[in-house]
Amino acid sequence: MTIYAATVVDTPGDPFTGDPAAALAEDGALLVSDGVIRSRGSLAALRAAHPGEPVTRLDGGLLVPGFVDAHVHFPQIRAIGGLGLPLLDWLEQCALPEESKLADQAYARAVAGEFLDGLVASGTTSALVFGSHFAPAMDELFAAAERRGLNITSGLVVSDRILRPDLLNSPETALADSADLILRWHDRGRLRYAVTPRFSLSASDEMLDACAQLLGKGVWFTSHINENLAEIATVAGLFPRARHYLDTYRRHGLVTARSVYAHNVHPADAELAVLAEHGASVAHCPTSNCALGSGLFPLRRHVEHGIHVALGSDVGAGAGLFLPKEALQAYFIQQLLGPDGLSLTPTHLLYLATRAGAQALGLDDRVGDFAVGKDFDAVWLRPADGSTLAVNLRHARDVSDALARIFALATPADVADVWIRGIRVQDAAGQEPR
Ligand SMILES: [Zn+2]
Repeated sequence: MTIYAATVVDTPGDPFTGDPAAALAEDGALLVSDGVIRSRGSLAALRAAHPGEPVTRLDGGLLVPGFVDAHVHFPQIRAIGGLGLPLLDWLEQCALPEESKLADQAYARAVAGEFLDGLVASGTTSALVFGSHFAPAMDELFAAAERRGLNITSGLVVSDRILRPDLLNSPETALADSADLILRWHDRGRLRYAVTPRFSLSASDEMLDACAQLLGKGVWFTSHINENLAEIATVAGLFPRARHYLDTYRRHGLVTARSVYAHNVHPADAELAVLAEHGASVAHCPTSNCALGSGLFPLRRHVEHGIHVALGSDVGAGAGLFLPKEALQAYFIQQLLGPDGLSLTPTHLLYLATRAGAQALGLDDRVGDFAVGKDFDAVWLRPADGSTLAVNLRHARDVSDALARIFALATPADVADVWIRGIRVQDAAGQEPR
């Protein structure tokens, strides 16, 4: 057992459905054994109850739950920063040429390592990962995620039209390759499978039907929706009988409580109603939406419809893997929406970066906060002495104010340490502690 003495902060409540102030919790210590949180409270109380157990002191900064990224593309880790293009041009010029390179399994192995190491260095310990169009590349991602102990839900990306020819597969091949990956990787340790058509723009009714055949057995579903007006118009032309973009998925039974749709920047009210009716979640990707000029996410309308919203970095369109940066950008977007926006508190931002993603992924019984019985996935955010963030934390009034300063100023350089199911990452990597 180990007692971690720190400023422990998490969001056991949902600030979107309750009192934001009550959703935030602060404690002085956690007792962890075998990677699981056994007790929490003040340091004095835990020491008295467990005398003789070693105490690890994490002085300064905040200890928060490992971040949960609800939408991120592993094949795009080498393609961040393609500015100045709208979605469909960015895909054609930046993202998809890079994704084609993952046909080479050695290339995919290197990319998977870079991607997962990047997640961990950014404090992300769970993610819904948009996969590769190539099955051997998915084997590389799953194997590398398993070695690192990460909570990864991912799947083969399938498409049968419009994209570059080398990225296309037939519905029959998609079905066979996905079923094979599900058999080998789904529910193996902390890994799970997500059926992943790229978007209905690149997936025919036959392909979406193949996707539907793969659902069941507890697998997840993810795709894109309503990101960009040109994309929406193209989808409408491809599916003349669909009532709206979401209907292209709904007609195949792909809108479920295990479905996570990325973006939804331009939804119709009818689509919000369908998402709510089926309990599907939306991954909001703020820096990506801004970088591609996709639009300002209508968070208030989602919340008012009772739709669960999580946060995604959407790398490579997004500007990096660090979830606090996405949370800050989400805050900016809501401020810019004025009366249509939803003013976000520091508690909302921490919730969006942690527990919201765990709930969207159905992992909230295991991760997302520091409740007793959950896995000890944690990030110690502690800035270097003398940095502007350190100066600000010293002058924070309370823990909510400290969080506000972290979201305003923190970068991956402020990630002092990460634990994945109780294993300190720097120990696991055999590196010297900072
Ligand atoms: Zn995406």
